[in-house]
Amino acid sequence: MLNSKIEKRMSSISGIGLFASQVIEKGETVWSPTLELMEKIHIDDLHVLSESEKHDWIKHSYQIGDTLYKDTDDTRFMNHSCSPNVVDLRDILVATRQIQKDEEITWDYLPYMNPYLVFDCRCGNQNCVGTIKKGILVSMKA
Ligand SMILES: [Zn+2]
Repeated sequence: MLNSKIEKRMSSISGIGLFASQVIEKGETVWSPTLELMEKIHIDDLHVLSESEKHDWIKHSYQIGDTLYKDTDDTRFMNHSCSPNVVDLRDILVATRQIQKDEEITWDYLPYMNPYLVFDCRCGNQNCVGTIKKGILVSMKA
């Protein structure tokens, strides 16, 4: 479940993103798992889905072991950043620093990405790694 101070808006990183509607303090819980708001599927069962369902799972799911998980609430819109303001701490996400009102909420979710997702990061940070794919960095930005 997302912190109630977070809302969806258009993002300059990618599509829709999540933004702080008011200040979120350092260490504050940004997201905690709620089983009722999550779907899961074994990674080998992706092929039985329709193309659009498969695409949705690849775009929005994260992987732990052989299982893919997908949030059914707005959590799925959290964008990646190479310099995020949220970090995973056991099974919750917390703010690494004070997040200002109107700032986008970002997480480096590379360790949890499913192996089918590849994308060009547009986080705009100096340390941005460019094309992101699980396990390897495909290219470096010039
Ligand atoms: Zn980046």
